[in-house]
Amino acid sequence: MAVRLFNTYSRALEEFRPLDPTGREVKMYTCGPTVYSHAHIGNFRAYLFEDLLQRHLEGRGFDVRRVMNITDVDDKTIRGSREADVPLAEFTSQFKKAFFDDLDTLRIKRADSFPEATDPREIAKMIEMIGTLMERGLAYQAEDKSIYFRINKFPDYGKLAHFDLEELRSTGRVKSDEYDKEHIGDFALWKAWDEADGPVKWSSPWGAGRPGWHIECSAMATQLLGDQLDIHCGGVDNIFPHHEAEIAQTEGCTGKKFVRCWLHCAHLMVEGQKMAKSLGNFYTLRDVLAKGYSGREVRYALMRVHYRAPLNFTWEGMEEARQALGRIDDWVERLRVEASDTNKSKAPSSKLQAPEKHQAPKAESGFRQALDDDLNISGALGALFETIRETNRQMDAGETGAEEAKSWLEWWKGVDGVLQISGDEAELPAEIAELAEARVQARLAKDWRKSDELRDVLAARGWEARDTKDGQKITRRGGA
Ligand SMILES: [Zn+2]
Repeated sequence: MAVRLFNTYSRALEEFRPLDPTGREVKMYTCGPTVYSHAHIGNFRAYLFEDLLQRHLEGRGFDVRRVMNITDVDDKTIRGSREADVPLAEFTSQFKKAFFDDLDTLRIKRADSFPEATDPREIAKMIEMIGTLMERGLAYQAEDKSIYFRINKFPDYGKLAHFDLEELRSTGRVKSDEYDKEHIGDFALWKAWDEADGPVKWSSPWGAGRPGWHIECSAMATQLLGDQLDIHCGGVDNIFPHHEAEIAQTEGCTGKKFVRCWLHCAHLMVEGQKMAKSLGNFYTLRDVLAKGYSGREVRYALMRVHYRAPLNFTWEGMEEARQALGRIDDWVERLRVEASDTNKSKAPSSKLQAPEKHQAPKAESGFRQALDDDLNISGALGALFETIRETNRQMDAGETGAEEAKSWLEWWKGVDGVLQISGDEAELPAEIAELAEARVQARLAKDWRKSDELRDVLAARGWEARDTKDGQKITRRGGA
């Protein structure tokens, strides 16, 4: 079955087909962070949707080449570095590092490249593109010495956001405090240096200055992926003007269709309200982790709602995520015990000798087919939990043999290759990991009394210690 995705440009579900004639290679560009602070959970919702998209496409046999940019020069980064009184590069490097740490915490697959806007190679590409737009009359230098894109010369401007140029004047979506421009909607390609920029500037044929945010993405995308992309993602906030501008700039230079499929992730709300520092409901990933949640719990909570539906982040939702993962952990653990039960496979009951009724292929298709349908994550998780219910029922009834349990574990491996939510011991809270290790040592010393005591201590804190042939396993106790 084909993968279908909702294209913001056409406002329709379309069968996804990459430009590559072999149909395998997918060029994907995703707008990355502006590194002036720690990314918030709304940003990560978008990055997680992109991760799910990439992993699902890969699971379907596509070969995804992904680029995510790092915006390390703009008004906010410059302001931040001046306030902190450190050079721009030093100011942004701490947030770059934090961003990559956060990606790891959330198990987000690294893109193939993370170009930085201040990279001299990228700056050169931006200047080259602006030069081309100037030659073609698509850009002009205004009295303030900045270079602007002339939107009146690009008839398709507004097609992504689905509004026309005249509307621009009345919607109030464009600030009208810039008088140097020919049209109120014209956006800056190159911002002439002014005092507020301090030492941050590059030379260009039009004088010293710095690139505008939009041209950064056009340059980095085409530099690394070529003139045409299969997929371009971002949050709905990026549609206008950012992505609209990217189309105008890139197509203005290349004369080719820039992006085949645009995908945008809806807003994240917190307790039903827009997230804002002034409301005290503004959370970075670190804020959520500080409340005792793990990266995979946050991953699950931010991923479980369809990307085009608004997501309401609540602490109750975090608890639900924890419980859902606990159910999955218990199920996987149970399958492992079942799969390692050699007695069972050696001396199967008559029931187990019945023809193999492996449902894995059916469930497998249910999970993946849901994701094929514009990443229908609710449907996919529904298929997963239905499988868990059914296999648990079979295990309760003693109908599952070691071989069948193994095939379910194999199935789970494929599903988790997309979801990335399996539990691992590395994630145990430090205190629990210490108790668990002490118990391992007690057992090695054959101190069974101490081992039992530690098991009780762990149980009292909501963790279960089990001894398997692969050693001790620690899992969260269901409902505890
Ligand atoms: Zn961008």
